Amino acid sequence: MKKKICIIILSIVIVCSLLSGCGDKHTAIIMKNAKDFTLTQEISESFKQENYGIQSYAFLKYIQENLPGRIAGTEKEKEMASFISAILLNGGYSEKDIKLNSFDIEEGVPMMDTSGENIFDGGEDSQSSQNIEVIKEGQSKKTIIVGAHYDSAGTHGVDDNGSGVAVALESALRMIDVETPYTIKYVFFGAEETGMHGSKEYVNSLTKKEKDNIVLMINIDSILAGDNLYLYGGRINDKGVVKDVEAVNKAFEIAKKANLPMQLTPKGNVDYPYPTGQKRSDHAPFSDIGIPYIYFEANNWLNGLPVETENHGLIMHSDKDDLSFIENEYGNRAKDTMANYSHLLHLVLQENNWE
Ligand SMILES: [Zn+2]
Repeated sequence: MKKKICIIILSIVIVCSLLSGCGDKHTAIIMKNAKDFTLTQEISESFKQENYGIQSYAFLKYIQENLPGRIAGTEKEKEMASFISAILLNGGYSEKDIKLNSFDIEEGVPMMDTSGENIFDGGEDSQSSQNIEVIKEGQSKKTIIVGAHYDSAGTHGVDDNGSGVAVALESALRMIDVETPYTIKYVFFGAEETGMHGSKEYVNSLTKKEKDNIVLMINIDSILAGDNLYLYGGRINDKGVVKDVEAVNKAFEIAKKANLPMQLTPKGNVDYPYPTGQKRSDHAPFSDIGIPYIYFEANNWLNGLPVETENHGLIMHSDKDDLSFIENEYGNRAKDTMANYSHLLHLVLQENNWE
């Protein structure tokens, strides 16, 4: 009997180490490709620019042209992980500042219906994804998480969510030599579209001390195409009452003071209680354990539902999530929204008293 238990335990240990071995192999390849990556001229040029949104736009152009169809688990998602790591390495972070944590993608509930026709398939599927974390030390151990998922539907995925990744990358590079009151952890989540696997995995991996140190989570998801620039925040408790709205209100005041065009959602929406925008993205696992969040998203709530645009409905998860389409229809919207959110993020990260 004892022997049998030993064999079972041994098998579990072997299977587990084999699985994590696979993850390690993927992350080693991702890092190797990041180190071999050659910056395009446009990205190199953008490194010298000070204005908000210039770098984000150069990153987004690269994503549009080279990294469509980053479906969770696929080759293309891993290529995007290499691209993100390459930008961080070229922007002044060292290999030891960057953590690649691999995880298996179990069956999950997709964030949205992704069964529509994929334009791009993302290549070979490994059933594993990875989060990328880079740490910028601050004056305090208290931490702000800036998160953006980098997987996509089978589209160019520039709105959802090349835009959030681009702005988070610009901020990580911008902040490297800036004294900040808080330590900032930039986390690029894999596998959001399959049911927030990356952010759930990240939150589950935190120690109690790490959780206690997080004062704020800023989630950036789909900021490129929507008609209006929103800030969401607040946790809906068991009685349906919205709590923890201090952070989003404070961010809204910061935006107003800097003349940035952010808004809060309309009041009175029963399904989407003000000012939450609901649990539609990677802030949710953080909010669920009591961490206050601010969620950046461009959208249009004027008809009571988040449908992004008045003229074209939802852009995300459709063939319209393409920079050529967005720029043809909306001119400078993509550049402007990324500049505005980059500016706000910079102000928020230098502010004190998020506790
Ligand atoms: Zn998204």
